[in-house]
Amino acid sequence: PFGRLFNFSAGPAVLPLEVLQEAQADLINYKGTGMSVMEMSHRGKEFMGIAAKAEEDLRKLLNIPSNYKVLFLQGGASTQFSMIPLNFAGPEDTTDNIVTGSWSKKTIDEAKKFSKANLVAKGDNKSIPAPSTWNLSPDAKYVHYCDNETIQGVEFKSVPDVGNKVLVSDMSSNFVSKPVDVSKYGLIYAGAQKNVGPAGVTIVIVREDLVGKARPDCPTMLDYKTHAENESMYNTPPCYAMYVCGLVFEHLLKKGGLEAVYANNVEKAKILYDAIEASNGFYNNPVDPACRSLMNVPFTIPSNPELEKAFIKEAEKLNMVQLKGHRSVGGMRASIYNAMPLDGVKTLAAFMKDFQAKNV
Ligand code: PMP
Repeated sequence: PFGRLFNFSAGPAVLPLEVLQEAQADLINYKGTGMSVMEMSHRGKEFMGIAAKAEEDLRKLLNIPSNYKVLFLQGGASTQFSMIPLNFAGPEDTTDNIVTGSWSKKTIDEAKKFSKANLVAKGDNKSIPAPSTWNLSPDAKYVHYCDNETIQGVEFKSVPDVGNKVLVSDMSSNFVSKPVDVSKYGLIYAGAQKNVGPAGVTIVIVREDLVGKARPDCPTMLDYKTHAENESMYNTPPCYAMYVCGLVFEHLLKKGGLEAVYANNVEKAKILYDAIEASNGFYNNPVDPACRSLMNVPFTIPSNPELEKAFIKEAEKLNMVQLKGHRSVGGMRASIYNAMPLDGVKTLAAFMKDFQAKNV
């Protein structure tokens, strides 16, 4: 409807139509206030209500324990790469870093600037190294890993066991795609622009006792304490993006919460991986089936990479867009976040079959 396409973008990505419609209905005059949410003071009653409701709904969705703070920050998930070591470690402290793809590689590179960053394990971009091979250091201030590598399509299927260490996770590309036991984490962060809203807001869920220990030279804006003490309103927050995230949280709760969302995501991903498996090698996804992402499905046509361009072009003619793989890995990538309809995935799987039949 409305000329919308099946949008397989890795992010910014597809949002639920119902959410866009609600935002549209409220765009010019938000609930009789005479102004748009974009035009309101962040300290006014209306916006404070919007922000409080967004947080409350996220707490419900993820069942966030009361000893955790929820922060709505700017700077993207990438700013967390430096905020985490600046807040949790001194220059001489060890931080543990698991690398399973491009994003966690960026994280350790940043952690090296502010701490003694230990490489716990390095994946081969298609699997997660066996925990028995991990080189965890006894005194690390935290262990960081990326729950879903957006570029490689490698996803953890359980919480990594790091004993009693503080566990920190980048969940940018699978945030609220499945139930998560928040109590196992010291900190979870996610850029919004995949599963929960427009770019511009980054959500941080942090255990209270870890806040307030930043190194003395940590810039004010990069100190979690600044934002925790001020309900994310130390300075102007990304108001409109927070409002849309709030609409998405409400929408997910209405859909039955994260168990229901997860069941949907399992079903959608299975259709694509089954299509790849059924192609007898015409299509290939290199990732170990034990850690294939439910959100990002990269695939290639190994026998004839030239065909990949034709695949992407023909898919576009059928209203399936943004299927080009990340420039660092090539091929195709179908990102199938929460808001990608089942129909989109079925249409893609049917097209894959047709395209193969025409091109073998
Ligand atoms: N981590 C992951 C897993 C990502 O997918 C991305 C964005 N694609 C980032 C971090 C960086 O996010 P941002 O662009 O919000 O800085």
